[in-house]
Amino acid sequence: MYIINLSQDKSKISNYISNTLLLKIEENLKNNKKIILYLNKRWEYSSLICKDCNYFYKCPNCDTSLVVHKNNKIICHICSYSKDLPLTCKKCNSTNLEKIGVWTQQIEKALKNYFKNINIFRFDLDSVKNKKEKNKALENIKNAQIIIWTKMITTGFDLENIWLISIILIEQELINPSYNTEEKAFINIKQIIWRWSRKWEKTTFLIQTYIPENPSVKMLIQSNYKNFFLQTINERKIFNYPPLTELVTIEYRNKNKQKALDFSQSLFNKLNFLNKEKEYEIIFNKTPFKKYNTYHYKIIIKWKNLRSFLENIKNEVFKNSNLNIIFS
Ligand SMILES: [Zn+2]
Ligand SMILES: [Zn+2]
Repeated sequence: MYIINLSQDKSKISNYISNTLLLKIEENLKNNKKIILYLNKRWEYSSLICKDCNYFYKCPNCDTSLVVHKNNKIICHICSYSKDLPLTCKKCNSTNLEKIGVWTQQIEKALKNYFKNINIFRFDLDSVKNKKEKNKALENIKNAQIIIWTKMITTGFDLENIWLISIILIEQELINPSYNTEEKAFINIKQIIWRWSRKWEKTTFLIQTYIPENPSVKMLIQSNYKNFFLQTINERKIFNYPPLTELVTIEYRNKNKQKALDFSQSLFNKLNFLNKEKEYEIIFNKTPFKKYNTYHYKIIIKWKNLRSFLENIKNEVFKNSNLNIIFS
């Protein structure tokens, strides 16, 4: 297993493909060996890192990744904490900050431009909806020399010819703003590496990162569950996250932005009114996210025994099909 620092080993074809990876790909193609390039694309935004001190920008309230927006702000998608895009690093004052976030299409394009006549199959799992599509995908995988993958599936195809697996950008696992992102990333990375190294010991793993010294990235690479658990449970304690508390996300959606905001605001007011003792932590995210032309607003509630507290708004919930309650 190799860990590649992208800052020191960037190739000419992409910011996210190192020279080492490029050479390994060439070598394997020459020998007719298959290659898997893995990239997390569950979250389509960018985050900000410092390439000098390995700092990963997180929300001071929520401990989750801050998202770079087009209006030159970095924003928390949980509590809507927002700040101008910094020019110098908050920790070390360096100007060597980088927006990170790469999509499968970019990797595919860079490789297709560089290697002219090779068969690349981009396998975004969202595109597989039924058995017929899965069989088609398996056929494509069989014929491909390079497979760009967003999620590992291992059933139904020959594992034994995969000689190189690269995780294109391991910190991309940490971009999704949710309290359990690191836990999901840990499980995911462990599965990718363990599954293959168990079944086919000839596979080489190449993990690329801009921030190899970042504590979260180190934890993902080291794959030591005990250390991971101890550190994570401590952070969950500090930020009041499950399993030490309960967490509920109330999501309201409407095609009309103002209506969506008004409803969410009045629900938030009601919840606050009921929370006289200030027992519960209630966060209203006033930055909506837009999906299929619909505006989504979120209210997040943290603390214990949330079911009984939510009894208070059961009328609103049952009357309203635009309202979703998600327990985690
Ligand atoms: Zn720094
Ligand atoms: Zn936040």
